[in-house]
Amino acid sequence: MPRVSGWYYDGRGFRPGTVGWEDGVIVEAREGRARDALARGLVIPGLWNAHTHLGDAVVTQELRGTLEELVAPPHGLKHRVLAKAKDEAVIAAMRRAMATMLRTGTAGFSDFREGGLKGLRLLYAAQTGLPLDGVVLGRPSGLAYDAREVAALLRASDGIAVSSYVDWPGGDLEKLAADVRRARKVFAIHCSERIREDIDKVLDLSPAFLVHMVQATDADLERTADAGVPVVVCPRSNAFFGLTPDLPRMLRAGLELRLGTDNAMINVPSVLREMEFAYRVARMNGEVRAREIVQMALRGRRLKDPDAACALRVGERADLAVFDLPAGPSGFASLLRATASDLRLVVSGGRVWEPPSAPAPSRRRRAPREPRAR
Ligand SMILES: [Zn+2]
Repeated sequence: MPRVSGWYYDGRGFRPGTVGWEDGVIVEAREGRARDALARGLVIPGLWNAHTHLGDAVVTQELRGTLEELVAPPHGLKHRVLAKAKDEAVIAAMRRAMATMLRTGTAGFSDFREGGLKGLRLLYAAQTGLPLDGVVLGRPSGLAYDAREVAALLRASDGIAVSSYVDWPGGDLEKLAADVRRARKVFAIHCSERIREDIDKVLDLSPAFLVHMVQATDADLERTADAGVPVVVCPRSNAFFGLTPDLPRMLRAGLELRLGTDNAMINVPSVLREMEFAYRVARMNGEVRAREIVQMALRGRRLKDPDAACALRVGERADLAVFDLPAGPSGFASLLRATASDLRLVVSGGRVWEPPSAPAPSRRRRAPREPRAR
């Protein structure tokens, strides 16, 4: 049975011991070291990037302009570039972004995939063979409801995610969200990023989560918390456009927060960087414990499995990341200072990925050119 040893996160804190898995599920979490451990270090559940637009990775130029000019549909820069890009270029860019996620300890992601059915196909092509879990949310190719297109998207995806309530003509989003509900799939939406939006109208769509909520009032945040709808925050993306999410205020409102890296053309999809930045931004408005930030970077997996403990316990999916970081109970603080070079191993659903630079423990091997599953 594959095992890792060190200090592992059991949901309450870090404790010394060993975690082992079989058939993609954790079957052992106990005290003591394993002599045959694949890696040793600080062990956490694999990070989960709760909000990405991986297709944007195809945009490589320096970005200038407002949020509207860069990302708003249908005429923002990213949409113009994506419309013109060759399929192979988009696939290669997304695969590169996925490799970055693995290299920074991420075992899963939730993507807002633009470009209709074809957009979904390109993402699946990019993901082929990588030990990386994904919740893939498609989007109609235009800003209008078309029942047949929605049905086709739902057959090919985990659900549908759209830009924002104000972008859509009256009534269309309600029809779309109702179709998603009937199909028992995920509906998600950005909310109150550029401007404050009507939270009641947005919550009526039964979203699985909202993204941003930077312009939300205290009452909006409380209504969202009461509705049990989590919010994904993307502090680096907000900061790029001169916005600051008030994380302590969001937590005071009782919201469940998750971390995402948003547009891959604006931020490299590293949850480690997002965690560090989120911690700093939180301190600008008060204080948040390091432990809370780390949990924000783990909770995204609940989109796929609402009962996930987001901890290393027997019965949980075998998603792990092992870091070469100072061990001990202060693991949360260590993780906020972690970089890609501290990573020793990522496991997603029991599939192991090692960084190409990791020293080979037992046998010689050539450095692989790209991430590979074993
Ligand atoms: Zn976004």
